[in-house]
Amino acid sequence: MSSDCIFCKIAAGKIGGPPVYQDEAITAFKDINPQAPVHILLIPNKHISSMNEATAEDEALLGQLMRTAAQIARNEGLGSGYRLVANTGPDGGQSVFHIHLHLLGGRRMAWPPG
Ligand code: 5GP
Ligand code: ZN
Repeated sequence: MSSDCIFCKIAAGKIGGPPVYQDEAITAFKDINPQAPVHILLIPNKHISSMNEATAEDEALLGQLMRTAAQIARNEGLGSGYRLVANTGPDGGQSVFHIHLHLLGGRRMAWPPG
């Protein structure tokens, strides 16, 4: 846990409401500023700043993050599709430096993104 990281605090249950999903490795919670009818963030409970800091030992954890996103999408009724996004670094639009996957759905997504 990184003491000044807002997502570490959410994973530890110190701030925020009840998670959408949580297990020993992953926490999922609603984005505070939703960009779609369904906008959920999935994070590893372990603090990793960005995809650039992920190591070989994090590979299973990152795979678990993707598969959990697919399971939550099913639970949310997103059978006609959804988008998973991992903004990385300043030019990637990352504003919180704890790896997170955006799960966006409930509307038709545009491509390319802005
Ligand atoms: P990024 O821009 O790093 O890809 O995404 C960060 C996301 O975290 C944004 O969509 C933002 O709305 C969300 N966010 C930032 N602070 C909080 C918070 O305290 N609680 C929740 N639930 N979401 C947050
Ligand atoms: Zn963190």
